Amino acid sequence: MAKIQAVRGMNDILPEQTPLWQFVEATARKVLRQYGYQEIRMPVVEQTDLFKRSIGEVTDIVEKEMYTFDDRNGDSLTLRPEGTAGCVRAAEQHGLLFNQTRRMWYTGPMFRHERPQKGRYRQFHQIGVECFGIPGPDVDAELLILTARLWRELGLGTHARLEINSIGSSSARKEFRNALVDYLAQFKTQLDDDSQRRLESNPLRILDSKDPGTRTLLSDAPRLEDYLDAESREHFDRLKALLDAAGIDYTVNPSLVRGLDYYGKTVFEWVTDSLGAQGTICAGGRYDGLVEQLGGKPTCAVGFAMGLERLILLLDTLGLTPEDANSNADIYVTAMGESAEAPAMALAEHLRNELEGRVVVSHCGGGSFKSQMKKADKSGARYAIILGNNELEHATAGLKPLRSDEDQVSVAQKDLAMVLAKALAT
Ligand code: ATP
Ligand code: MG
Repeated sequence: MAKIQAVRGMNDILPEQTPLWQFVEATARKVLRQYGYQEIRMPVVEQTDLFKRSIGEVTDIVEKEMYTFDDRNGDSLTLRPEGTAGCVRAAEQHGLLFNQTRRMWYTGPMFRHERPQKGRYRQFHQIGVECFGIPGPDVDAELLILTARLWRELGLGTHARLEINSIGSSSARKEFRNALVDYLAQFKTQLDDDSQRRLESNPLRILDSKDPGTRTLLSDAPRLEDYLDAESREHFDRLKALLDAAGIDYTVNPSLVRGLDYYGKTVFEWVTDSLGAQGTICAGGRYDGLVEQLGGKPTCAVGFAMGLERLILLLDTLGLTPEDANSNADIYVTAMGESAEAPAMALAEHLRNELEGRVVVSHCGGGSFKSQMKKADKSGARYAIILGNNELEHATAGLKPLRSDEDQVSVAQKDLAMVLAKALAT
């Protein structure tokens, strides 16, 4: 019978890779905590309408990327394609936004039916950060300062660069949209197919087009910048000043528009040149209208999401895997003969009690001295502990260095933890 394979575009993350994932997750957790952000966990399935109403009907996600199905009651449900909508839904449902500010983050799998390729999958993972109730550019800057710190802590150095833009208020965008459509309509037949379609449905997305012909036409198109309302312009100027003061490098990219309907004012992306076409590792912006759009009181909000697969791919590509992200066993405890099995288990427990943070692997499954030592070597441990009849009789243990030429020594069991602590510290 043919073996069943994973669903296309949905990856297994294997034991060799999980240490790197854990490193990224732990670092993000630590940094977010430093800034006072609290974790929230939402379900991966929501009512389909939540995404239609928040992300917008004429976006790539809602038009063609969602995993939508009817459950047994006939309700239309969707595997979440992103986390902001669910976060707002949860915060509103539990009254977290009323008369207060909130700084929250979440992580987990997201689902989009896209063409799988490097850095683009159908199940992928994000860490999302959302801030509610703070209208000013100070919190926009905070999010970017926080992200810059995360890149530093991950060792990414200058491999991520920041692009920012302001897409103004919705009325400013409407005006600009009309001007853009008027201009592009003259050249409709010269636009790429996607852009022709978007001319009616979502013209701002045309600014995002990678098609060279479309790009040339865009160079003389009206500029969003010239349509910005005074408030958005001031907000953006202040943000730039705050970033300058904080020493965060950025470029203003006037054609940066986000794919989702709910953004306004500040939008930004962290981009790397090391991953080819899928170079955006983190993207976000301000979405002051979304809470109200979903039935809540007007509540300003700003947030971003980073793609963990892309971040990990980047760390891998740059060879930036931290050494201890690969650490396996420290100590491998063998048992020579059945009578040594229970004492070896007890000794391993004793070592785990005394040597916090060290990885103590017990040999299980018996076998010859040779085969047990082979497994000890393969475990990556620095020391093997050998327990046989002779050692049991004298309450000692054999201590064999596996990563140097030093000889095996015999150590009293009561001293073993102390000796190992010293040895492993060097
Ligand atoms: P793209 O333009 O690459 O499709 P997007 O605008 O659809 O990105 P967002 O919705 O802003 O992406 O999601 C935030 C981040 O999540 C992206 O910057 C990226 O790092 C990651 N991401 C989005 N879609 C995928 C995917 N299909 N596979 C892996 N990572 C993804
Ligand atoms: Mg996309």
